[in-house]
Amino acid sequence: GMRKGRLHVVVLPYPAKGHSIPLLHFAKQLHSMGVFVTFVNTFNHLSKEHFRSIYGANEDDNPMQVVPLGVTPPEGEGHTSLPYVNHVNTLVPETKILMTTLFARHEDAPPSCIVSDMFLGWTQEVANTFNIPKYVLFASPASGLAFMLHTSELVKQGKLPIDRSKEEDLVYDIPGVPPTRLADFPSPIQDPEDDSYLFYLRNCEQLLEAAGVLINTYYELEPTYIEALRKAYNLISFLPVGPLLPKAYFEPSSDVVPVDSDIRDPCLKWLDTQPDSSVLYVSFGSVAVLSIEQIQEIAQGLEASGQRFLLVLRPPSNPENVPLLPEGFEERTRGRGFVQVGWAPQLWVLSHRAVGGFLTHCGWNSTLESICRGVPMLAWPIQAEQAMNARFLVDVVKAGVELCRVTDKLVTKERISETVKFFMTEGVSTARKNVRKLQKLALNAVALGASVQKNLEDFTLEVRFGKQLPNGL
Ligand code: UDP
Repeated sequence: GMRKGRLHVVVLPYPAKGHSIPLLHFAKQLHSMGVFVTFVNTFNHLSKEHFRSIYGANEDDNPMQVVPLGVTPPEGEGHTSLPYVNHVNTLVPETKILMTTLFARHEDAPPSCIVSDMFLGWTQEVANTFNIPKYVLFASPASGLAFMLHTSELVKQGKLPIDRSKEEDLVYDIPGVPPTRLADFPSPIQDPEDDSYLFYLRNCEQLLEAAGVLINTYYELEPTYIEALRKAYNLISFLPVGPLLPKAYFEPSSDVVPVDSDIRDPCLKWLDTQPDSSVLYVSFGSVAVLSIEQIQEIAQGLEASGQRFLLVLRPPSNPENVPLLPEGFEERTRGRGFVQVGWAPQLWVLSHRAVGGFLTHCGWNSTLESICRGVPMLAWPIQAEQAMNARFLVDVVKAGVELCRVTDKLVTKERISETVKFFMTEGVSTARKNVRKLQKLALNAVALGASVQKNLEDFTLEVRFGKQLPNGL
């Protein structure tokens, strides 16, 4: 039925950066539209520094409500590890208590709906308990969503679990998904023995129970995939609301990189010394950990390429304390290379005038961020749905060049050096032209009165007045 008073949306992210960051941007956007928002900081996983590196030093005067939920398991690390996932899955009772508190605390604006992450399927049960709708915020592209919704069909057809004796290079045509080989299927379903297999399939089923899916993409980027979704599942609303980034990033000329020296990161200071569009930014996101052997190949490949680079590394587990970089590497590449171990302020890096290309694992946030800042990509998919994203980037929209495939075990320094050199000297210009086109479409999509705003408004109307079901239903 119709809900009176102010809308109150409870946003519940999965506690991994690639998920909590876009959900935070979504929450901020709703908040700025005058919706009352409670952002649940699962495991207090986003720190003050993260909020700051995402939104700059000046948080607004009208802050959004942020509440903690649950405690990080002691094993802490490994956001995709089984103990972590299982622990996240035990949060149902705590989430119900939190919801009860929110209902009691906000009598004038009780929670009207839950918007939760794609991998928190159990929030459906919580929403059912409180008789409010649940929407999913999908942090991957529409094509990844089309794949997830199609998995039960693949199971029925006997194509899942994957039959290893079948031709590896067979290309599957799934509605709403770019032509995909078995090896490009998302990593959780590659191995039925893996615990993530059932976790993934369960979440795929639970997606079908949601009232709607808000997708971190924009219509103009994936029109045929979005239409395919709408045609195939007409009880679910599919609303593209991306790219989910702070507003400032949609103004190509605005200088979003802070000049404050106390928040100016070492890698930004180094970028200041480099010529325009000359540096290849290399990063594999917040989850992937490369082997020390692979890191060594990357370092040597970058050195041999002769190109300028900023290499950001997540430290691998290294009990024997093996040096991460080849001996003498830093001296030999001084002035044209910089290595940062740990976290880099990626949106600022991609916005820096010196960055000319992005060697990326094709995580969807990284992909969208690169598009919005007009930076062409060199694709090195590692896991999750990144291989499908790479196919889209390289084969469909041609905003990037392929460095390797997800099936390549160790990528050699020769391959890295050759591809990087080719990319930065030749390949980059076509890719840049194409990425700029997509950037322009993104700017149009988020402009005042355009598709993203309309979809966000449709979402609030649906929550307020209930879903308008298709004719005859
Ligand atoms: N990120 C960052 N600094 C880092 C690594 C990652 O700011 O050093 C941010 C990046 O900008 C993006 C998110 O973390 O918003 C990573 O999400 P993505 O989907 O690209 O990959 P994932 O980490 O989930 O594999």
